[in-house]
Amino acid sequence: MTVVAPTCDFCSRPGAVVFFAVTEYRLRFPTHDWYSGDRFYACPSCRTYVDASDWAGLIRYADLDPLGAQVVAGFRDHHAPGAVSFTPGTNPEASR
Ligand SMILES: [Zn+2]
Repeated sequence: MTVVAPTCDFCSRPGAVVFFAVTEYRLRFPTHDWYSGDRFYACPSCRTYVDASDWAGLIRYADLDPLGAQVVAGFRDHHAPGAVSFTPGTNPEASR
């Protein structure tokens, strides 16, 4: 069985290595409500931006549109500081 590592929730690239715990939040977009879930996965690059609280840099790196920028603003206000590492090649969702 192949274990698929989570993709990064910011830039959508494969290879997330950490997640951040999030107090779930909702955004009202013009066409739908968007729900955050309770974890945001991050690749090494996006994790660096989060650790530095460089939100503009993160939005630029991940090439996010205005709705994506709203998601990041919500994340900024709702995440618990401190990335949670997991073993590469494992799926941390499997133990939930
Ligand atoms: Zn990323």
